[in-house]
Amino acid sequence: MSFTLARFTLARSAVRHSRVRSEATASAKNNGLLISTPKQNKFTSTPIPTAQNKASEELLVVVGGGAAGVYGAIRAKTLAPNLNVVIIEKGRPLSKVKISGGGRCNVTNGHCVDTMVLAENYPRGHKELKGAFFNMHGPADTMSWFSDQGVELKTEDDGRVFPVSNSSSTIIDCLMSESTRLGVSLQTGKAVVTASSTDGGKFLLGVENRTFSSPEYVEADYLLIASGNSKQGYSLASQLGHSIVDPVPSLFTFKIEDPQLRDLSGITFPKVKATLKIENARRNIPQLTQVGPVLVTHWGFSGPAILRLSAWGACVLAGSGYKGNLILDFAPDVHIEDLKSIVTQHKNKFAKHKLSNSYPSEFGLVKRFWIYLLGRQELHGDTLWASISKNSLISLAHMLKNCNFYVTGKSQYKDEFVTAGGVPLSEISLNTMESKIQSRLFFAGEVLNVDGITGGFNFQNAWSGGYIAGTSIGKRAVSS
Ligand SMILES: Cc1cc2nc3c(=O)[nH]c(=O)nc-3n(C[C@H](O)[C@H](O)[C@H](O)COP(=O)(O)OP(=O)(O)OC[C@H]3O[C@@H](n4cnc5c(N)ncnc54)[C@H](O)[C@@H]3O)c2cc1C
Repeated sequence: MSFTLARFTLARSAVRHSRVRSEATASAKNNGLLISTPKQNKFTSTPIPTAQNKASEELLVVVGGGAAGVYGAIRAKTLAPNLNVVIIEKGRPLSKVKISGGGRCNVTNGHCVDTMVLAENYPRGHKELKGAFFNMHGPADTMSWFSDQGVELKTEDDGRVFPVSNSSSTIIDCLMSESTRLGVSLQTGKAVVTASSTDGGKFLLGVENRTFSSPEYVEADYLLIASGNSKQGYSLASQLGHSIVDPVPSLFTFKIEDPQLRDLSGITFPKVKATLKIENARRNIPQLTQVGPVLVTHWGFSGPAILRLSAWGACVLAGSGYKGNLILDFAPDVHIEDLKSIVTQHKNKFAKHKLSNSYPSEFGLVKRFWIYLLGRQELHGDTLWASISKNSLISLAHMLKNCNFYVTGKSQYKDEFVTAGGVPLSEISLNTMESKIQSRLFFAGEVLNVDGITGGFNFQNAWSGGYIAGTSIGKRAVSS
């Protein structure tokens, strides 16, 4: 990956001078933005064209070397080998792929063959993504692509797809070697900080690196913004005329102030029906009831059902200061009347047993949690079943069905996995990923107002968007 901006600086002077003019014009247009007055010796240019093909003179700049950016760059370069493709990445490329899925990388979800069902897994995007988006490049296409590159994948029982190696490095190595093979250039340690359009319909980008305080400038024919949830990426989109839906965290766990619950940290419930009632919420969100595993943590609750609630409630929860009531049903498959009879029968059968030592096994609860529930009912563990009143039995049954916890906040320390908000889908053509506001400007991945629940859906959004954008750019480049 030897492609450097410095190399561009020394490119054909004729090319450079024409670009300098347009930069100066664009820079003047950018009053008040981050662009500083460019000095001639800081200017950069596209690489020297090496072929007669028109595409060889054109440059695609991809902002962000994450899943969407690298996949999009590979696709564009595959279709248009003569197009110059440069990924500018401010940190380490594919760093989220590296840490994802606990280091295994949950590449996609293999259970959603029907694209309409697949779209239902996106709290932001479920309506819009029901169109052509996943038909153009869905989970099966992603899996085929990686398989064609020699990556063996496996689908787990819950639909999550991982590399057979159980290592995200396999995915990273695949993407990096394919981009190298194709001649995609990767520049790391540099951030695109400003963007404007030139009179000629191109893009003037201000690029800062770690060592230089003033930006270098690059002129690009195509721009793909795949900057994830970075503020800089949102700023670039705004500079080019897009609006931004306020970004808020999604996929987080719930904080509950309950010292007794904290002592139960580590207990898991395989199947709980969890309902979230958000404080001051003005609208009803049907998806705020979820069934699935729940886990007690030292600060509250986590697990797939909780993460799904956090995703569907992300925006309203942010507005409420992450306050609400979490109602857990520990016996979702048992009707309340059946539950009452189960505890009554238990009382009759085990009348001489202590409450703490004997409890119905039907609910799959562990003893420590049962004792916690007794405590909430102000029942002592040493009490015999025989002395429990009918009312107490009914209350116990109700507590198993409707156990209320007050949510006081969300998990801290950037535990959230994905960001809701970003560039609105209404400003993008999802068939091409091209901006409806600015021609030749494309977006893909998390920078858009799309986010999925856990299970590989967020990466699938990145692969699909990157692929569609890369296809559009590649086709445009060869035909221009
Ligand atoms: C801990 C964790 C685990 C996850 N696990 C999974 C999982 O198992 N499955 C799943 O589907 N999803 C998972 N996700 C979500 C998934 O990682 C993201 O949805 C996905 O990475 C989004 O891809 P992206 O390319 O849009 O953005 P990113 O991966 O965030 O890439 C954007 C890149 O752009 C760079 N960048 C930003 N601004 C600029 C700029 N101005 N100039 C230059 N570079 C810039 C950033 O440094 C970054 O490298 C996980 C997320 C986290 C945090």
